[in-house]
Amino acid sequence: MKVPLLDLKVQYRTIKDEIMDVTANIFESQYFILGPHVEILEKEIAEYCSVKYSIGVSSGTDALLIALMAAGIGPGDSVITTPYTFFATAGSIARLGAKPVFADIDPDTYNISPDKISEIVCSMKAVERARLKAIMPVHLYGQCADMDPILDIAKKFNLLVIEDAAQAIGSEYKGMRAGSMGSFGCFSFFPSKNLGAFGDGGIVTVQAAIFYEKLHILRVHGSHPKYYHRYIGGNFRLDAIQAAVVSVKLKHLDSWTEARQKNAQKYAKLFVEAGIDEKIKLPVQKESRHIFNQFVIEVPEKRDELRNHLNNAGIGNEVYYPVPLHLQECFAYLGYRKGDMPVSEHAALRTVALPIYPELTEDMQTYVVEKIREFYLA
Ligand SMILES: *Cc1c(COP(=O)(O)O)cnc(C)c1O
Repeated sequence: MKVPLLDLKVQYRTIKDEIMDVTANIFESQYFILGPHVEILEKEIAEYCSVKYSIGVSSGTDALLIALMAAGIGPGDSVITTPYTFFATAGSIARLGAKPVFADIDPDTYNISPDKISEIVCSMKAVERARLKAIMPVHLYGQCADMDPILDIAKKFNLLVIEDAAQAIGSEYKGMRAGSMGSFGCFSFFPSKNLGAFGDGGIVTVQAAIFYEKLHILRVHGSHPKYYHRYIGGNFRLDAIQAAVVSVKLKHLDSWTEARQKNAQKYAKLFVEAGIDEKIKLPVQKESRHIFNQFVIEVPEKRDELRNHLNNAGIGNEVYYPVPLHLQECFAYLGYRKGDMPVSEHAALRTVALPIYPELTEDMQTYVVEKIREFYLA
């Protein structure tokens, strides 16, 4: 049996007619950049995420970059974030000349640890603390970071909170939607996210009118009115085709999320039945709505051998992420050493993501669990 990590083709078949209709209209109109489809999507996403405004942008990476720019973050500033995330999180901070400061993660959720953030802020000298401008938590794998203590620290030290919610559209923390808790929420429509476009795309959610205005201006090279530039912005525009595709998919998102959650429960049951639930660590759900962009297990030993075994059995799997960001070559100048972020380093060696997409069948899940049982117990 073949079980891919993600199969977008099965999902496409169920929405093909809707997609063909809207895209045909866009082709007829020959209106490709921003415009009414983007504006409609912005309203829909703002409502879905329980925020005042949202603004469509060219990718999740650009969502982070433009949010940081709107927050006025630049050379000399620093931003606290997690080392256990996709590169773009810290990459966007560094691209603006600011310094990423890493805080290690919680061993159960793999999200940034509020205690570590607190330790770092409290140990900073006055000059360092004056440079600290923001905290950028990531809602990893589709589960929100522990936001209350993060928001408390931010308030106490006058820091902005920019949520990297690229993997977490629709996830909730104590009933609050990802992207609605900080000053900005950054989302990605990369095809492998739960709400994916047919190419690159992203969106920023925002509550304050003043930031919303600035994001608008930065999205078109800082131009306002046209050809008059108050800021140096960029081309952060979203395509009409991507917006229209995402609008079609948004109508199905809650049912797809439910299917992912059911699959996660089914895995838990199957691992218990196979008698290996003691051997491996299943995802720990601490927050109120986990949307399972990834289903990541932690194994005690031989992670890479297990991956070979799964690959040979035709089972897709991946490691998110094999090298924590504080140990990436490009960040050597930050001066971190192996051992500085022990929880992230441990996770990088022990975790593996299994297929969890909505259309996964029970037979496929049974096969995945059987192959893992075979590896550890046979
Ligand atoms: C995917 C992702 C991004 C970047 O999104 P792109 O649309 O690929 O640019 C940023 N942060 C996290 C945590 C992601 O998973």
